[in-house]
Amino acid sequence: MKFNTFCIVAGSEACTGGCKWCVAAMTTARSIHRGKAKPIDERVFKMACQMAQQSGLDTARITGKGEPTLFPDQITQILTELKPYGFTFVEMQTHGRHLADEDFVSLDDMQKWADLGLTHVCISVVSYKPERNFQHYFAHNKSYTGYYNMAALISKLHKLRINVRLTCIMQKGDIDSSEELIKFMKWAKEVKADQVTILPVNKPEDRERNPKVYDAAMDSLLTVEQLADLRGYVEKNGVPIRTLSWGARVFDLAGQNLCFNMCLTESPDRDDSRQLIFYPPGTIGHDWQREGATLYVLPEEATAGMQLIPVRKRSETGKK
Ligand code: SF4
Repeated sequence: MKFNTFCIVAGSEACTGGCKWCVAAMTTARSIHRGKAKPIDERVFKMACQMAQQSGLDTARITGKGEPTLFPDQITQILTELKPYGFTFVEMQTHGRHLADEDFVSLDDMQKWADLGLTHVCISVVSYKPERNFQHYFAHNKSYTGYYNMAALISKLHKLRINVRLTCIMQKGDIDSSEELIKFMKWAKEVKADQVTILPVNKPEDRERNPKVYDAAMDSLLTVEQLADLRGYVEKNGVPIRTLSWGARVFDLAGQNLCFNMCLTESPDRDDSRQLIFYPPGTIGHDWQREGATLYVLPEEATAGMQLIPVRKRSETGKK
């Protein structure tokens, strides 16, 4: 079986973000808990790393069903265990808040991650406007009064030799036209993002799994015309650099690296499924949406007695 990407789920469903159409809530719960995280079974993790290597993958991506940076020690463990496999690129997806605030994550953690081989931090955003990003991600949380300083966060990560990719989820009312994309790309340059990925909000096939999230996704979907406008602009003004095996295209757009992506893509008829996904403690899957798409599941009997990991205690000394 051939894979195109290797995703490692870190943490639990706990998240300090409040996206109404939470992508994570659309995907199968698997063994992921709401609060405490399950530990990683080293033997199964090793198996997943070997499968990724057999597919010739050079990138491993740490992601979450919630916000992975609420469990910094698990990220350190994942990076430590990944190291012997020598993945050229190791990425981590986050909303970025705790790297900026240094409340749940310290600068020492980030330094350690860089030393262990973290090469890219992929920060989810919906806009170039701080107030819109705040509204979308953090306004529900009374402990936050505004969005963080993106330029300062990128500069901090750059000092650690980490590249930053802004992952912009395009939704109705935000980046929904070529005019808005132009402004977004200008901002990305100003804040010195190294790469940009844009992808439209997607909806799951199954409304039953989470009707509220499904309906929020439906309300935010771009129209066919909006998508055609965005695609047309990128294709007309960008120089294609490469097409990734699942159809995403990478462009040089006025000197900025831009990937036009779709999420939750699947190729059920072929034996080159896009994703190899490791879920703690020990599930290896190959599809975010289908519970049955598993290659190995560590039996419950083997996980008895495993100690769950709580969210890292928030540091009162964190920067604001
Ligand atoms: S940041 Fe990610 S996990 Fe958190 S609410 Fe938004 S989509 Fe969901």
